[in-house]
Amino acid sequence: MSAELLLEETLIKRSQQKKRTSPLNYKERLFVLTKSRLTYYDGRAETCCLLQQKKFRRGSIELSRIRCAEIVKNGGGIIPCQNKYPFQVVYDTNTLYVFAPSHDSRSLWVQSLKEEIKDNPAVLTKFHPQFWQEGSWLCCRQAEKQAPGCSEYNLFGDISRKPLPPIPGEERKNDRRRPPPPLPPVTDDDDDDGEDDDDDDEEEEEMVVALYDFPGAEPHDLSLVKGGEYVILEKCDVNWYKARNEYGEEGYIPSNYVTEKKSGNLVQFVWYSKQVNRNKAEELLRKEDKEGAFIVRDSSTAGTYTVSLYAKSAAGDGGAAIKHYHIKRTQGSPQQFYLAEKHLFSSIPDLIEYHKHNAAGLVARLRYPVGKQDKSAPSTAGFSYEKWEINPSELTFMKELGSGQFGQVRLGKWRAQHKVAIKAIREGAMYEEDFIEEAKVMMKLSHPKLVQLYGVCSQQKPIYIVTEFMEHGCLLNFLRQRRGSFSLGSLLSICQDVGEGMEHLEANGFIHRDLAARNCLVNDSLVVKVSDFGMARYVLDDQYTSSSGAKFPVKWSPPEVFNFCRYSSKSDVWSYGVLMWEVFTEGRMPFEQSQNHEVVTLVTKGHRLYRPKMATPTIYDIMHLCWHERPEERPSFSQLCLMISNALEGDTPPPN
Ligand code: ADP
Repeated sequence: MSAELLLEETLIKRSQQKKRTSPLNYKERLFVLTKSRLTYYDGRAETCCLLQQKKFRRGSIELSRIRCAEIVKNGGGIIPCQNKYPFQVVYDTNTLYVFAPSHDSRSLWVQSLKEEIKDNPAVLTKFHPQFWQEGSWLCCRQAEKQAPGCSEYNLFGDISRKPLPPIPGEERKNDRRRPPPPLPPVTDDDDDDGEDDDDDDEEEEEMVVALYDFPGAEPHDLSLVKGGEYVILEKCDVNWYKARNEYGEEGYIPSNYVTEKKSGNLVQFVWYSKQVNRNKAEELLRKEDKEGAFIVRDSSTAGTYTVSLYAKSAAGDGGAAIKHYHIKRTQGSPQQFYLAEKHLFSSIPDLIEYHKHNAAGLVARLRYPVGKQDKSAPSTAGFSYEKWEINPSELTFMKELGSGQFGQVRLGKWRAQHKVAIKAIREGAMYEEDFIEEAKVMMKLSHPKLVQLYGVCSQQKPIYIVTEFMEHGCLLNFLRQRRGSFSLGSLLSICQDVGEGMEHLEANGFIHRDLAARNCLVNDSLVVKVSDFGMARYVLDDQYTSSSGAKFPVKWSPPEVFNFCRYSSKSDVWSYGVLMWEVFTEGRMPFEQSQNHEVVTLVTKGHRLYRPKMATPTIYDIMHLCWHERPEERPSFSQLCLMISNALEGDTPPPN
C-alpha cells in the first residue's frame, strides 16, 4: 500500500450532512491519497503512522468516482476552523469539503487529485466554485443540491508542468488549456437528493473488528477471521449485520462476533474483559500465576474500569497478591486517565501501554494480559440470519443428557461439528404450533447468560428443539454435587450470571415464568445461563399449569402468581430471590418441610425463607428485597445486578 502512497497530511474535513439531521462539523482527519483512493482516518499523522495500522478509517473514495477536485472560493465568508484553505472533491453526487493549512498544501492536494482523475469519464463540465451552505449554493444561489454547476470546470492541460498551474480564478481566464474532454452530463437519475446513496462518508461507514472466527453457515453469510476488519453495510437486526470484507465480498455476520473499531472501544484489546468481576479476575489471575499478569475490567461503578494485577513479590513471603487499581479520571476537559498520580494519559490504551513498561507506583508492571474470560466463540442467534428451521438430516445424535417435562434431551452435532442439545418433544406434551411461532422471537433473544435457541425441526414428529449445549447440565444438580466446595464469591458469581440473563429478558419485556435453579444450566467454563424461558406457556399438563397442580412451582411463586396467575418481570424477581436461596444453600429444596398448600398459607402470612448459613446479611438482604409482597416494591433485575456486583466487589455499602 505504501508504494502507492502519493500524499498524506492531516487536514480538516467538513461533515457531508448526507442526512438532513446530521450536524455540520469540522473534524481533523488524516488524509491519504494513493493511486486508487482518497481515504481519511481518525487522528493525526504523527500519532497514526500508516505502517503501524493504528488509525481508524472513517471514509474512503475510489478515485475513479471523483468528478471534480478544485479549490473553493470563499467569497469573504468566515471559515469556522483553523485551516483556511478549502478545496472540494466531488464524487458521484456528493461533495466533500476539505480545509488545508496553507495555500501550498491546498495546491498540492488539488493538483495531485487532478492528475489522478484526469482520465475519469465522468469529470464535470461545470461545477460550483463556492460552498453549498444552509440549503443553497453560495455561488449561484440555486437551492437544489444537485443543481448543475454554474462555472466551467477545467482540468488543466499540462499537468506535469512545474510549478503547478494556478487554480481556477481570475488568473485562469486567459489560460489556454486543453478543453475539457467530452463528458456525460451531470445526472441525478437514481438518487432523489444525493444524500443517502453512498457509504463512503464517515457518518455512514462503520468499521468493525472480528473478535472470533465465524465460518459462515450459509451461502449468504460472510466468514469472519479473528482480527479482520469489516465494513458494516446494514444492521438487519440486533443479532445479524450485513458486512463487507476487504475483498469486497458481502454477507451476514453475527453482531456479537465483532466490535466497533473506534478509539474509545476497549473490547478490541486483549487485556480488556468486559464481563469479569473482581472474583473472576482473581480466579483467572491465580490460574495464570505469572508475575505481572493483569486484566482490565469494568468496575462495579458503570463506565469506570479497574486494572487487576497479580504480583508474586508483593506479599514478600514468596506468596502472591492481587491488587485492584481503579483507573481514575481527571476533572474538566480534556479528560485524562491515570492509575498512579502524575502519570496522566489521554486514553486508557495509552495508559496501559505506559504501565506495560513502567510499574510507576504499581506493585508490578503490566506484563501479561490475561485473555478474555471465555475465549471460545459465543453462541449466535440461530446458525444464520433468519434461519430457524433446521434440517434434521444435518443432526447427529449422541448420548442422553436428561429428560424433562417435554421429553428426552440428547447431546448432538449439527453439520457434524457444532455440539448442540436436542430436545425431542413428546407427543401431547406441548402446544407445538404456538411454540413454533414463538420460537422465531425466542431465537432473537441472544445473550451470553441465556441458553441460546438455535432453531427447530418442525416439519416432522416428534419436533426437535435445538439449543446451545451446556456441558455441566442443570444448576441444581451442579450445586448439589459440589456441596461444600463453593466460596462465597463463586456463589455470588452464579447469582450474577443468572441476574444478567434475567436483566436481558426484562429489558426485552420477556417473562420467564419458571425461573429456578433446575431451569438454569452450567457450561464448560462454569458460566451459568438461564434456560427454558417462556416455555411454561406451552406445557400441556394441568398439574404443571394450574396453581393447585402438583407440579406448579408454588415455592418459587409470589402471591400474585399463586393467587391470580399474574406474571410479570417482578414475579420473575421473586423467583430469582428463591433461586439465590437455592444457590446459597447449595441446592436445598425451599420450604423443605412444607407442602405446596402450606407454603401458600405461610407466604401469605408474611413468612419468608430463612437466611442460609453461607449468605451474609448483605446477601440475605438482597434476597429479601425480591420477596416484597407488592411487586412494584421489588427491585428490577438491573438493580439486582448492581447490588450483586457491589457485593462481589465488596467495596460499596449494602443495600437497605
Ligand atoms: P424440559 O424443558 O422438558 O423440562 P429440561 O430443559 O429441564 O427439560 O431438560 C432436562 C434435562 O436435560 C436437564 O435437567 C439437563 O440435565 C438436560 N439438559 C437440558 N438442556 C440441556 C442443554 N442445553 N445442555 C445440557 N443439558 C441439558
